[in-house]
Amino acid sequence: MTAVLETMGLTRAFGAIVAVDDVSLRLQKGELLALIGPNGAGKSTCFNMLMGQLKPTMGNVILEGETITGMKPRDVWRKGVGRTFQITATYSSMTVIENVQMALMSHHRDIMRVMPYAHKRYRDEALALLELVSMADQADRHCAVLAYGDLKRMELAIALAHSPKVLLMDEPTAGMAPKERVALMKLTSDIVAGQGVSVLFTEHDMDVVFAHAHRIMVLNRGALIAQGNASEIRNNAKVQEVYLGGGTVLSDGEAAHA
Ligand code: ADP
Ligand code: MG
Repeated sequence: MTAVLETMGLTRAFGAIVAVDDVSLRLQKGELLALIGPNGAGKSTCFNMLMGQLKPTMGNVILEGETITGMKPRDVWRKGVGRTFQITATYSSMTVIENVQMALMSHHRDIMRVMPYAHKRYRDEALALLELVSMADQADRHCAVLAYGDLKRMELAIALAHSPKVLLMDEPTAGMAPKERVALMKLTSDIVAGQGVSVLFTEHDMDVVFAHAHRIMVLNRGALIAQGNASEIRNNAKVQEVYLGGGTVLSDGEAAHA
């Protein structure tokens, strides 16, 4: 299979701390890949290197065969590495659809030229994206009044406005209720299947990870310690050990029977 995004020996040290230690991973086309690990494992540091926010100490990031290591965030984004949630800027004074239209204009680079007609441009395209995330019925509501889960779905539509090849989602469901988490990941999973986007995500809730990820990679103290599908990860002795004390990789229901 072809890797869309790949890292080779990715490493980042902060002084004496090696936050990410020789990580090589491959995100395949159309894959929903989870990167999990306890707090401080190096997940966010990894994401920050993938999106250009942080320069690696060593190693490379490769997008569709092209080395993009050390490129600026804006350039990485332009190349098709989208990201959601943690740094999406939304405009609360605008409506849902206006936010998506802004993203489409920015994607097509005509933001300055057509600013006065912002509400007219890309309305159909924006509506189609909102349809995709089941937000079309809220298109004309102001963002300020949206429920948290709805805001997250709008942010997903905004990320998709840039037609990304890859979506990086660092804890997309942070702050959401369990039901909303499941719904957002289900939606993401449908989009991956429908649009052929490849997604790398982190997530605390193991039920969500096991239910939706095609493949799971486990980081501990900066290093990859395991990878596989849900049942392989559940049954991996190293993974079990890492999660002891800090919770369990089993879901609550299963843990009761373990
Ligand atoms: P995770 O996202 O898996 O919780 P992080 O990538 O945020 O983990 O952190 C990995 C390690 O790197 C931690 O020990 C953290 O304290 C350290 N770290 C992260 N960012 C910085 C930074 N900017 N300066 C110093 N240490 C950092
Ligand atoms: Mg983190």
